[in-house]
Amino acid sequence: MRPPHPASLTPTDRRTRGELLLHPDALRTLERHASDAYPEEACGWLLGPPTSGGAGARVVDSARPARNVAAGDRRRAFELASEEFRAEEARAAREGRTLVGVYHSHPDRPARPSIPDRSAAWPGLVYVIARVTRQQVSDVAAYELEPLASTFVRRPIVLTEDPGGTVAPRANNLTGSSTVPVL
Ligand SMILES: [Zn+2]
Repeated sequence: MRPPHPASLTPTDRRTRGELLLHPDALRTLERHASDAYPEEACGWLLGPPTSGGAGARVVDSARPARNVAAGDRRRAFELASEEFRAEEARAAREGRTLVGVYHSHPDRPARPSIPDRSAAWPGLVYVIARVTRQQVSDVAAYELEPLASTFVRRPIVLTEDPGGTVAPRANNLTGSSTVPVL
């Protein structure tokens, strides 16, 4: 068993939105990709059911690796191909699913958005960032743009095997659930 991720509490991220409910399989895919791509940044898609998750939560039950097409130093930057974004959105729609967000890794850097990350972000998508140290993911955090501002707010990550099923009735009592280590 791998030890749980340390909480990534950062004093400047005081405002938060609803939780990101993340299936462990999606986290494993992201971790493996981030490790394989090291020391370059890995990036990919986060997918979920077409429901909001209730109570402002977002639901991700799978992750799919994408290509990092950044033209510069890919150890410090990532870029998704716009044609892949459109294809992924269309594929998700065909499968009755939603493209919830994007993940990428920060080799040897904190799991916090960089200035380019902020300026490249799309509203409405969740951004999950994984810190990788010596090929090992050591921290994971989720962010989303404020709708009317170019600042990110945190979404606490809750790992759950059943992200779609437990949300509505347990939304105000997540700490009482047996399935929810909070990252
Ligand atoms: Zn970044």
